[in-house]
Amino acid sequence: MFSERRYDIVVIGAGLLGCFAARNLRRWKVSVALIEEREDVCTGISRANTAIIYSGYDHKPGTLKAKMTVQANARMDQLCRELDVPFSRCGSLMVSYGEKADAILKQKLHSGIQNGVPGLRLLSGPEAEQMEPALAHGVRSALYAPTAGTLNPWALGIAAFENACQNSADAFLKTTVLDISAVCGDYCVKTDRGNFLCRAVVNCAGLASDRVQKLLFPSPVSLSINAGDYLILDKTSRPMPRYILQYEPEEDDKGISVVPTVEGSLLVGPSERDGRPDYATDTEGLSFVRRQLRELLPDLRVDSVIRSFAAARPNPQRPDGSSIGSFVIEHPAHAFWSLIGIKTPGLTCADELGLYLAEKIAAELDADENTAFAPRRNGIPGVRGLEFAQRKELVQKNADYGEILCPCEEVTKAEVLEAIRRGACTVDAVKRRVGTGMGRCQGARCQQKIIAILSQELGIPESAVTKDGKGTEILYHGAS
Ligand SMILES: Cc1cc2nc3c(=O)[nH]c(=O)nc-3n(C[C@H](O)[C@H](O)[C@H](O)COP(=O)(O)OP(=O)(O)OC[C@H]3O[C@@H](n4cnc5c(N)ncnc54)[C@H](O)[C@@H]3O)c2cc1C
Repeated sequence: MFSERRYDIVVIGAGLLGCFAARNLRRWKVSVALIEEREDVCTGISRANTAIIYSGYDHKPGTLKAKMTVQANARMDQLCRELDVPFSRCGSLMVSYGEKADAILKQKLHSGIQNGVPGLRLLSGPEAEQMEPALAHGVRSALYAPTAGTLNPWALGIAAFENACQNSADAFLKTTVLDISAVCGDYCVKTDRGNFLCRAVVNCAGLASDRVQKLLFPSPVSLSINAGDYLILDKTSRPMPRYILQYEPEEDDKGISVVPTVEGSLLVGPSERDGRPDYATDTEGLSFVRRQLRELLPDLRVDSVIRSFAAARPNPQRPDGSSIGSFVIEHPAHAFWSLIGIKTPGLTCADELGLYLAEKIAAELDADENTAFAPRRNGIPGVRGLEFAQRKELVQKNADYGEILCPCEEVTKAEVLEAIRRGACTVDAVKRRVGTGMGRCQGARCQQKIIAILSQELGIPESAVTKDGKGTEILYHGAS
């Protein structure tokens, strides 16, 4: 507990949006504190989503969302190179099996062209089936977006977080914002660990962003939360689709997406249902996802499901309960910004939104550019996919690269130790950094070993190591 700290800017919430806001704010000469109530970053909405980098045909032409999505997509290769995050620009096919869906695809083609989405094409059914033979026969048309892609959302968020810290943003995890007040033209952000005096506040509190704004200002927007269920199929699933598939069903149902992930598994979902933000899955929701998957890819072996999970959606609403869609950027007062209900495409646009906010706030605070900003961050080197000679070289430098802890994903002790050195303090935090427990056995073979290493490295008994939730105190000191 401390009594008071002073920063130029406090960012509340370390999901994808908060991490990118903090990173981009450090492009200016301002001090930044990133405050997160959980023990790790990207454990909220950013942990559970569809992982698609959208091409930008889905949004109303002329809107900020449409412009940002197309721009963010175009810059994704460079961003992922800078942050050392794997990105697969595999392209997407939105498929139609009926008249109603045909019309929707044509309308999306039209918006996509207006939005400047490169390479967008409406395919005939046979063309689509030739490109993706796993699709159920009878495709009538398909919208092909070659620029769509996928990456691991938490890998991107963690990379942005590490880079923000490398650039001297200070992160306060396990710190909950309780209140905000205005003090002589500045703000006082009150937390359970002390007060932060600052000149600007960026509210990226995800599911709580409406409530955080209401701590100081009235918010014309409230969030109603609903849920969605997903399945993950093992990388041995066959036939594995090559493209991201988006099913536009004839019925009023929302269609699912099928995403061949950068890890090699298949992500399928989501359903849409009333639900609580507790991330518990629902039998009916999962049956819906299975049913749609069978309709779209009938030959796919659905018994290779290795995991299911649920996501929480923040739906912005006006006071009368009517929906606003998504992408609400509130600016209720000088140097106070809130991102409320940024659903899809928040992953795609996380960096763009961060840049947008950083520019606005830098102008409000009259801040100079930080020419020392270093955009590059190195990921944790792994052995997966390496040739024998390359592995040997790594082992010669560090013998811990010779000890495989997670046989499904081929993750070594050296990688786990580096994840802990970079701040991971729970089993899930290690998983999010190096992929342990993400394979077929879902941690059955490595979890106990990870717990033993966490216990040793953190100096706590094994019984105190948690899967998620209660780690050690952390004031992050940056990564290599
Ligand atoms: C179902 C679903 C699927 C999606 N799929 C895609 C997709 O395929 N492609 C795409 O581009 N986008 C997608 N999105 C959008 C994208 O996932 C989000 O926009 C993105 O993850 C941003 O999340 P966030 O940072 O706003 O929230 P979060 O990740 O939830 O972060 C908010 C953080 O604030 C913290 N917090 C809250 N209150 C406080 C407090 N009082 N004090 C301190 N900390 C606090 C929370 O603990 C949390 O860590 C999807 C969204 C949903 C819901």
